[in-house]
Amino acid sequence: MNDPLKTGGSGLLDELYREIILDHYRRPRNHDPLKTPTCSADGANPLCGDTIHLEVGLDDHTIEDIAFAGAGCSISQASASMMTEYVKGRTVEEARKGAEAFQQMMTTGETQDLEGFDDIDALQGVSKFPARVKCASLAWKTLEQALEGGGVASTEEGETSHD
Ligand code: ZN
Repeated sequence: MNDPLKTGGSGLLDELYREIILDHYRRPRNHDPLKTPTCSADGANPLCGDTIHLEVGLDDHTIEDIAFAGAGCSISQASASMMTEYVKGRTVEEARKGAEAFQQMMTTGETQDLEGFDDIDALQGVSKFPARVKCASLAWKTLEQALEGGGVASTEEGETSHD
């Protein structure tokens, strides 16, 4: 499987983008568990073995606080770090718009010019690696699952449950 983070060759991620992704991977933001999460969800990407546990502290319709823990490849964990940084302090509606914009970027390969998406745009090149799109999307899928009341999100269709 091609690794978009490896240098050399063609069609690989820009050096600057690579640095942003590795920075989030090495120093994940919002990584301390919340004391009183209002909802949480778990996400899994069985293809790559990525897992994410997400805790959200909602105040009315605002994501007051958010934290994640997880294991897996650098793209999945960096994407989770970027996602939490983006949605923290935003409304649920804004977070859902972010998830939409992200999915669109993964589908079209184009950035969506969303305010606050600067770091997230570094994942744009991942759209060229279909297998890794699931790694990058996992955090956003898990967020949507948490906002729907919790449960387990999977990147594989048909494996999503609401237990
Ligand atoms: Zn992965």
